[in-house]
Amino acid sequence: MTSYPVASIDLAALQHNLNHIKQLAPNSQVISVIKANAYGHGTLEVAKALDESDAFAVARLSEGMQLRRAGIKHKIVLLEGVTTVEELQLAADYDLSLVFHHQSQIELLEQTDLVNPLSFCWLMIETGMHRLGFSVNDADEVLAALETSKAIVGPVGLMSHFANADLVDDPRNQQQMTAILAITEDDHSISMANSAAILSFPVSHQQWLRPGLMLYGVSPFADKTAADLDLKPVMQLKSVLTAIQNIEAGEQVGYGGDWTATKDTLVGTVSIGYGDGYSRQLSNVGQVSINGKLVEVLGRISMDMICIDLQASPSAKIGDEVVLWGNEQLSVELVAKLANTIPYELMCQVSTRVAREYHYGQS
Ligand SMILES: *Cc1c(COP(=O)(O)O)cnc(C)c1O
Repeated sequence: MTSYPVASIDLAALQHNLNHIKQLAPNSQVISVIKANAYGHGTLEVAKALDESDAFAVARLSEGMQLRRAGIKHKIVLLEGVTTVEELQLAADYDLSLVFHHQSQIELLEQTDLVNPLSFCWLMIETGMHRLGFSVNDADEVLAALETSKAIVGPVGLMSHFANADLVDDPRNQQQMTAILAITEDDHSISMANSAAILSFPVSHQQWLRPGLMLYGVSPFADKTAADLDLKPVMQLKSVLTAIQNIEAGEQVGYGGDWTATKDTLVGTVSIGYGDGYSRQLSNVGQVSINGKLVEVLGRISMDMICIDLQASPSAKIGDEVVLWGNEQLSVELVAKLANTIPYELMCQVSTRVAREYHYGQS
């Protein structure tokens, strides 16, 4: 029995998207990015379904430790590295790979005696994002320091991150690429490409890809759908109709009375709210899908409930399923646009109160 609300996760779609990435970049290896609870999809289930990845990446130590404790054997890269000696020790104990982006992290290496050295480490280079990383001019020196440190075994790769990869043909992408390629002519691996770059900027593929969003079947581009890109949406967020009211012209719906009926209206109540991560920014502008019809959200989003306009679905009854996003009619990209945000945020926000249900193919 399904208990609503539920995020229904199609692991076959996830695997399709990974295979599609491999076809797009057959000469590169894939670091699947599963930070932030795998973009809300559930870290461990996603990691297991993405077993064919060459490595995983998460943002933080706690996320990496969770994967190791669950028995995941892949390489795991901590994209933010660590900030204390204790964290460095734990990262080494858990066989987690680090991104080094700041001098303070190099100093930690010098202060710590690691029993098990780190491997598969990366040097983050600042090429235009101005968030994390060493300057291009310091790269050779820091690379040498890392590779001669007894705390690290094996080669250290070069990593950087695009600030504008979703803007296809933006000259800043080529500038960032040129910057990292200028660093070294020897055999250091390079990892640049996030989803948008994988899809639109083949020069950026290099040795290691870092897809996140596209694994989950979501388009990074404003003017292209997932289907245009041969991606299959992984998450469908669903709940249920719990009440139906007839309201009269002039009556108001929800907190603050932000929506007023201009004629007699059939109003449905759905069990989902901002307490489930359904964005309050969808107040009065959201749409949901019920019985094959797209209908409007009326008034403000409450913590546990929303109200919807049932004019277009007059035969709807209590217990009917309501899709908040993720079917053919209503993509998470569209809902993000209505909420004036990005699909990343909507998916990450789906709270722990929402059950995750896993299946392969149609549920
Ligand atoms: C989150 C993240 C990614 C994945 O980006 P997508 O746009 O989701 O593909 C790649 N690299 C880094 C450093 C990240 O933080």
